[in-house]
Amino acid sequence: MISENLKKIKSQLPPQVKLVAVSKFHPAVAIQEAYDAGQRVFGESRPQELAEKAKSLPGDIEWHFIGHLQRNKVKLVLPYASLVESVDSVELLDAIEKWCAGEGRTVEVLIECHIAREPEKTGFSLDEALKLLTGQLSWPHIHIRGLMGMATNTEDENIIREDFTKLTTLNAALQPLRGLCPNIPSDFNLLSFGMSGDYRIAVEMGSNIVRIGTAIFGEREY
Ligand SMILES: *Cc1c(COP(=O)(O)O)cnc(C)c1O
Repeated sequence: MISENLKKIKSQLPPQVKLVAVSKFHPAVAIQEAYDAGQRVFGESRPQELAEKAKSLPGDIEWHFIGHLQRNKVKLVLPYASLVESVDSVELLDAIEKWCAGEGRTVEVLIECHIAREPEKTGFSLDEALKLLTGQLSWPHIHIRGLMGMATNTEDENIIREDFTKLTTLNAALQPLRGLCPNIPSDFNLLSFGMSGDYRIAVEMGSNIVRIGTAIFGEREY
């Protein structure tokens, strides 16, 4: 089942698009099943859950953290996460910088932008993201690789396209600045958008990371 879902989704993704299998709330056996089918990149949204799964599952898994991260939880996430996709505040950047400096390492992150119509979703406003990325305030142990966003939870394709367009427009404005601003390195080229319900639209609109849970693992039990 999981392997069939993966195969089907993979066949729809162009080769340059990375598939993050969102395994939050699903048990380690489900992740192992996907792993055995060849999947190596997984996304988790809760720090404790990520830490526990990372310790018990194969070491060559690439873990992406995709949930809201509290400052006091960075120490649970950073030892395992290859990419923190959901950086949503300057305070969080400061906390990540502090941990990384203490450990003598760097971490790759994406800047999460608030593009949905639901106010409770997290992320920088587009304006804040632009100011942060083109500004002079920087974090030496943090390598900002691009942007992440989540569209409104709706069936209305027009709304989803409008939301995604906010992200692609900001990204297009930033691309010419690669290598010219401290927070826009020359490899600022990751653009993470698209989930189970909207990844086809996302890929068509230029996403190069899709985060898919339900369509691979089935419904989550909370
Ligand atoms: C849960 C989650 C996903 C996956 O959602 P599905 O609809 O199950 O594919 C993607 N991105 C983020 C940030 C999530 O929290």
